[in-house]
Amino acid sequence: MKTAIKIVLFFIFYTNASFSQLIIDKKEGFAIMRKSSYKFPKFFREFQYINKTESRIKGFNFFRDNNAGSPAKASKDGIIHLNVSFFENTPVDYEDNRLVVVLYHELGHLYYFTNNTNDNNREDNEKFAFEFSLKRTKNLALFGDCQPLKTGLKYMQQRSLSNDLQDQHVRALKRMMNGPIVKSYLSFVEQNCH
Ligand SMILES: [Zn+2]
Repeated sequence: MKTAIKIVLFFIFYTNASFSQLIIDKKEGFAIMRKSSYKFPKFFREFQYINKTESRIKGFNFFRDNNAGSPAKASKDGIIHLNVSFFENTPVDYEDNRLVVVLYHELGHLYYFTNNTNDNNREDNEKFAFEFSLKRTKNLALFGDCQPLKTGLKYMQQRSLSNDLQDQHVRALKRMMNGPIVKSYLSFVEQNCH
């Protein structure tokens, strides 16, 4: 009986997921990125930059999920999957700086996957990805643009206050936010960003 219920639930969720997420042809995906570059100039610049320079990136895939979901994800095969809905109908709390942070977060996952091939600790993986995004956006700050770093810290702080302990992002952020690494970025911002 229990198995039957599980099977039914599996089909309900599985079919919902496959209906709401539409895979987009790569050419069209890149065209959507280019088209939205006037709205997201920093994101587009970093997207092109890492596409050329990061050997861990094996490619980009694109999908459209009008139920929103999240703007991007990374998979073990070196692919970064971008949700074009976030570039076409951008939710109000997403903008250029935040999408730059998301992009580096996903690249962080690719670094984690290659450095920890036998480790499947999703919370550690998220922690690594968040810290990686701080490291890379600090580089942008050193070149004169503090906004992505400040934006990343702001949203990490906000999300760390969530009570959803099922979410590995939240658990990772709760571990991080009062730790020395985040503190060092906060004091960097305090000293260098005005
Ligand atoms: Zn993540």
